[in-house]
Amino acid sequence: MSDPVRIAQFIGSSFVESREPGTFASLNPSDPADVVALAPRGAKEDAAKAVQAASQAFPTWRHMSGPARADALYQWASRIQDRHEELSQAIAREVGKPLGEARGEVSRCIAILRYFAGDAVRSVGEVIPALSDGPLQYSLRQPLGVVTLITPWNFPLAIPLWKAAPALAMGNTVVFKPAEQSPWCAQLLAETSIGLPDGAFNVVQGDGETVGTALIEDPGVKAVSFTGSIEVGTIIQKVSAARNVKCQTEMGGKNAAIVLKDADLPRAAGLVAAGAMRFAGQKCTATSRVIVEKAVYTEFVSVLVKAVESLPVGPASDPATAVGPVIEESAQHRLTRALENSPFEREHVSRATCPGYYVPPTVFGRVDPGSDLAQDELFGPVLAVLEAEDLDHAVEIGNATRFGLSTAVYTQDISSAMRFVDRIEAGLVRVNGDTTGVDPHAPFGGTKASSSGTREQGPVAKDFYSEWKTVQINP
Ligand code: NAD
Repeated sequence: MSDPVRIAQFIGSSFVESREPGTFASLNPSDPADVVALAPRGAKEDAAKAVQAASQAFPTWRHMSGPARADALYQWASRIQDRHEELSQAIAREVGKPLGEARGEVSRCIAILRYFAGDAVRSVGEVIPALSDGPLQYSLRQPLGVVTLITPWNFPLAIPLWKAAPALAMGNTVVFKPAEQSPWCAQLLAETSIGLPDGAFNVVQGDGETVGTALIEDPGVKAVSFTGSIEVGTIIQKVSAARNVKCQTEMGGKNAAIVLKDADLPRAAGLVAAGAMRFAGQKCTATSRVIVEKAVYTEFVSVLVKAVESLPVGPASDPATAVGPVIEESAQHRLTRALENSPFEREHVSRATCPGYYVPPTVFGRVDPGSDLAQDELFGPVLAVLEAEDLDHAVEIGNATRFGLSTAVYTQDISSAMRFVDRIEAGLVRVNGDTTGVDPHAPFGGTKASSSGTREQGPVAKDFYSEWKTVQINP
């Protein structure tokens, strides 16, 4: 076991000591005796220095040409490509993401940087005919200034980058606050950013309440993009509204899959099991409810149980693992309590006998749609099976939560699929696919309490990180 990595703040493209000497440990969830890193608790002064560095870098970065900013982002992608396996292993070790999926996350980072490098060149405005003859009237996108990015631990490289890449492409500079559980991944990301102009991308590590609060309240910050829990997202929305700065929050889900009686049941079961259990259910888009048409309920549950049983549980570093540990001891305890207290019938419990923070993949049958198990985001390898009379009843149950992030239907009937797509309340909708993930160049985000309504990734991401200026030039 190697010595813990010492984490520093990354300000003005240099690693510097925090003003706060206290540290916290980041542990390997597959083997908690392995202390991955010691990270600073962070100080308000660290946040202020980072905002200052980003403010100083802003005039230079925004006035670089679009192609020059694009080139800087392409080079960042190449540096990540050069360290692909090292970064994948780091994600697996620090947050317990199974290695295969960790490798996928790193590839996604490269795709994101390359995509938004293109946007730095393509983000043009429009010529708008004026009311009278003579003036030249047009619109152009302008950067906002310094933007704060606050992220969770479950995609420790991809989420920061799907915010930072469009922010930088539009000419903003960035202060990034990673989650307390993934400081090493954030430090590695900072290392790969070296090559950007000094201060364009800064990282302030530490406690959410101290550093996060300082970064959303700093008068130098012109916009905040957040991904994480509803509780923290709500605080960020309120602070940003009071300061009248742009704010984007992507939050939780209670994602439903619907299985209709004409579905290919073994295929649907495989996709539902993977969507619910891979990475121990710790994706915001993970399937946590499956609503099954009554006529096939019993048959589907039996194939679903086999599909869940077939998913290997083990340490994240093993490429064969599908279901790793959960992130930390408190999550393990919280999930264990929820499983013990559930009044519903256990259709299946996998074995999990490893030393880390494992929670056995568990399927509950005939769950009441109004129960906590069907309503609350558990963020673990737990799946609730519910029964519906028909498609319309299934959609009604699917919509009866406060969330609206991701969803799927399994059917061979195009009319049922189209009716589902039209009526289901979610930002991401799949037909015969699992609820998790989305292509890195497609818009991503939820509706209802899952989001504040903007979208990340794809062609619309730049809308949050820029504002329009309308210009009229008279002869
Ligand atoms: P969290 O809300 O606890 O933490 C997220 C970030 O907020 C961390 O960096 C934390 O330090 C910071 N923070 C905490 N308190 C703060 C405060 N008072 N002010 C400012 N920042 C503060 O979330 P988590 O436990 O890390 O992640 C799990 C949650 O994230 C789940 O609800 C999951 O659904 C959600 N998530 C959503 C998406 C999406 O795109 N919709 C993607 C991944 C995860």
